[in-house]
Amino acid sequence: MKFNLKHSPQRHRDTEKIKPKNLGNRYANLCSFFRSPLCLCVSVVKRFCLSLALLLLAIPAHATLNVFACEPEWAALTQELAGDQVSLYTATSALQDPHRIEARPSLIAQARRANLVVCTGAELEVAWLPVVLRESGNNTVLPGSDGYFEASQFVTMLEVPTRLDRGEGDVHALGNPHIQTDPRNFLPVAEALGKRLAQLDPGNAAHYQQRLAAFNRQWHTAIAKWEAQAAPLRGISVVVQHKGFPYLSHWLGLNEVVALEPKPGLEPSGAYLAQVLDTLQRQPARMVLRAAYQNARPAKWVAERASIAAVELPYTVGGSDKAKDLYGLFDDTIARLLAGLQ
Ligand SMILES: [Zn+2]
Repeated sequence: MKFNLKHSPQRHRDTEKIKPKNLGNRYANLCSFFRSPLCLCVSVVKRFCLSLALLLLAIPAHATLNVFACEPEWAALTQELAGDQVSLYTATSALQDPHRIEARPSLIAQARRANLVVCTGAELEVAWLPVVLRESGNNTVLPGSDGYFEASQFVTMLEVPTRLDRGEGDVHALGNPHIQTDPRNFLPVAEALGKRLAQLDPGNAAHYQQRLAAFNRQWHTAIAKWEAQAAPLRGISVVVQHKGFPYLSHWLGLNEVVALEPKPGLEPSGAYLAQVLDTLQRQPARMVLRAAYQNARPAKWVAERASIAAVELPYTVGGSDKAKDLYGLFDDTIARLLAGLQ
């Protein structure tokens, strides 16, 4: 951003010369004498101008795209690929259930100013995103337009139902939407997202390309490190609270024995948890996994009675103190799983 205000010191001195020296003092004296509404008005306008100037200084000079991310992991990936070239808004936090949030007016206002909406898709946000996008009146971010991006379209989906029965709980026609628990899924998503950013902001295409290449290199190295660290987890049996970990289990070779939710999205009853304990007697597991946003009680109840570890996983960026970015998310996930083996 270039400022074309001719603000040379010479010019400034010129205006100083023209200005009567004691005008400021005279104005202040008049104001204190009359305390008139006009004086008050002038001072409010002065303050407003100052605030506006400070606000303009606070806006990054190069932010060209407003990105609305449905979940923290996509905000974090966009940040990796765009740096400070975008202004980011994240609709959900790691401590919220992304299946169910309210289509609040603040979300609608953010969608209205967005140039790009980046979400998981595969029906994860079906309860709130369609309402938010419709109410925003922003046609450039509706599904099918260049301003709408679904990460799940670029990965191989697991648990795609052969028969769709909504009576079976939160079953998604396109497969399990919790793709962010396998770091390998970020590679094809990053590739597609990098291209989309360049398409929407062609002036910075080289910048996005460069950052994408850097992310690819670092992410491949990180995956190799995590896989080496996670070797002791291969073949370990686990209980999951919600069917939210199939991609993690597939990646690390965990064996999911049973889920604590009788149907996806349904809180377990005491009777159902007793059944889970029965199952665990026949098929023992080493730990119960749950996401940071989920109720801790069912997992703790089962873990205590089965004498196994209850492991809380960050699940996404911000889900633990250490999960500050995508790298921290998987560093902490592996560390917590390994601690669960102790
Ligand atoms: Zn789910």
